[in-house]
Amino acid sequence: MKTAIEVNNLTCRYDHRAVVDRISFSVREGEFFIIIGPNGSGKSTLMNTVAGLSPSSGGDVLIRNRPLADYPRKVLARTVAVVRQQASIDFPFTVREIVMMGRTPHQGLLGLENSIDQAAVDEALLFTDLQDLANRNIHQLSGGECQRVFIARAICQDPQIMLLDEPTAALDLAHQTRIMDLMEKLKVEKGTTIVMISHDINLASLYADTLLLVKGGQTVKQGTPDTVLTYDILEDAYECHLLMDISPVKSRPRVTLVPDSYLRGITEKEANHGAD
Ligand code: ADP
Ligand code: MG
Repeated sequence: MKTAIEVNNLTCRYDHRAVVDRISFSVREGEFFIIIGPNGSGKSTLMNTVAGLSPSSGGDVLIRNRPLADYPRKVLARTVAVVRQQASIDFPFTVREIVMMGRTPHQGLLGLENSIDQAAVDEALLFTDLQDLANRNIHQLSGGECQRVFIARAICQDPQIMLLDEPTAALDLAHQTRIMDLMEKLKVEKGTTIVMISHDINLASLYADTLLLVKGGQTVKQGTPDTVLTYDILEDAYECHLLMDISPVKSRPRVTLVPDSYLRGITEKEANHGAD
């Protein structure tokens, strides 16, 4: 299988501080690849650099075996779509206008919309459950609705690679599942490579072919959910109390947070029994 993304010894610094620190990994074409890790681990910086949106301080990124720097902007935009963590739009465009912006890399110099563009927008609005909001001003939407608009714009771009930074963070359960199922469908039916950052370890466990756990800008572990989502690895990475078992859905690892008060209760009960 071909390589969609190859990252070699990539380093990104802010004010001389390396927040991405000589990281290397590769993503296969058609893979659902999910990056997890604590806050401030450098995940967004890593994704923005892979997307060509922020500079690196060292190392290199290859997209489909071609150095990122060699891509003309329009070709890169037909290859990679990005949904950033803090996406926003300053001007009061309608939902439909913003989703149509995803078609720009496919249009000629005059930017004329054709029936293929219209159909792609309709399909993206349908997939993201936004048909009823199509003519609404973006500034009149909730956070979760806005997030779906930016996902719709990326879908409409019809890229070979999708990079999504916490796309389900502001979504309710139904829309989370809908977006994850949609990404899986793009992977299976179109062979799209999906690279996603997620804070939801259980969702990541259910959908990922490969997980990359990062901390301090470095790889802690990369592999299938079974190999990455172990009690030892997660408790060490997140430094909190967890309970691991197997989800009845797809038999994938499942994590449950353990409140401190619950743990104290167990310890006290055990101490009382000891005193009997
Ligand atoms: P994550 O997405 O894993 O939460 P980020 O990549 O957003 O992590 O941030 C990694 C580190 O870099 C954090 O310590 C953050 O405060 C810092 N950082 C992020 N963006 C900037 C910036 N523009 N200037 C300086 N420091 C930044
Ligand atoms: Mg982030």
